[in-house]
Amino acid sequence: MLKDGLYVLVAEAEERTPWITEFWQGVDACRDTCPAFAFCGGAHAANRYFEHAGRFDGTRTRYCTTAKIALLEGVTRHVRSHAH
Ligand code: SF4
Repeated sequence: MLKDGLYVLVAEAEERTPWITEFWQGVDACRDTCPAFAFCGGAHAANRYFEHAGRFDGTRTRYCTTAKIALLEGVTRHVRSHAH
């Protein structure tokens, strides 16, 4: 039966798996640097790992550039072009 709260479980997991801390550092870096963060949330752990040489604390990837940033820019451009 599960007795511990979520914060306890996450804290224990971070001790056992240091990449989780590295991942959150990447999310913080995304929040601090990317204008698309509110739309994206800065996740995409697998893309970070494979596009940043096995690290989770990077920010921009080819994936998020095309799937998030370009999409957001395209939608924004479209809305602006149809604004009255
Ligand atoms: S679009 Fe890319 S750089 Fe921006 S918040 Fe998302 S993952 Fe980070």
